[in-house]
Amino acid sequence: MKNNILEIENLTISFDGFKALNQLNFSMETGELRVIIGPNGAGKTTFLDVITGKVKPTKGTVAFKGRNQRKLAEHQIARMGIGRKFQTPRVFLNLTTRENLALTLNPRKRLLSSFFGTNSRSENISLAGLLETIDLIEKADILANQLSHGEKQRLEIGMLVAQSPDLLLVDEPVAGLTDEETEKVGNLLMNLAQSHSIIVIEHDMEFVRQIAHKVTVLHQGSVLCEGSINDIQNDPRVIEVYLGQPMTNVYA
Ligand code: ADP
Ligand code: MG
Repeated sequence: MKNNILEIENLTISFDGFKALNQLNFSMETGELRVIIGPNGAGKTTFLDVITGKVKPTKGTVAFKGRNQRKLAEHQIARMGIGRKFQTPRVFLNLTTRENLALTLNPRKRLLSSFFGTNSRSENISLAGLLETIDLIEKADILANQLSHGEKQRLEIGMLVAQSPDLLLVDEPVAGLTDEETEKVGNLLMNLAQSHSIIVIEHDMEFVRQIAHKVTVLHQGSVLCEGSINDIQNDPRVIEVYLGQPMTNVYA
């Protein structure tokens, strides 16, 4: 228990009586990279909304680092160390890659000082480190609107990491990416998993296979099953909820 970064018990979320999440139980160890899959409407996005405090439990508890979050506001939960990446990249298109990262690294600094070389040495080192981590050194000084969709996704993940969260929540990071870009995002997440706990929601089963150790399947607001990607893909219950087809066909 002590080592669990997230501990969710009996979580129910009702929207006007409709249970988007229904007595859901979930736990995750510190340092884990967990992938969550499930058909549309299974409750995946709502699940992230509860973890970040955007939606409060109707019943049940969410504990992050051992602390019940019920009474905490969204910004307090974020400050405790949860960072969320939404599906669409949210980067400043008229700033360069480096400037986008500098802004998130130095949130209290004024824009201009971070542009014109007044960064301390240690900040420069971590900015360089971040650029390397997201593999955008060569694109550091071009405007974000010149980046490909995959590069923008990596930049936004970098901006999230700049805030040093303990738990990263990443919603469908490879939707619409080329195979090559998908693999790069996968490598980035695996690299970050060495120093962060990460939850990834994803539909792309090739990608899930690339990154996943443990997969949780959500269905109708509850956990249907958990296991390795091989266990999951061969589980008759999972095959049934995916319309009786092998999952790879569903998402082809
Ligand atoms: P997923 O991300 O797995 O596709 P969601 O978490 O978005 O699923 O939604 C789960 C269910 O809850 C869906 O049936 C959705 O219509 C419903 N739902 C989500 N948010 C709301 C809301 N704010 N009000 C009413 N129903 C909602
Ligand atoms: Mg969703």
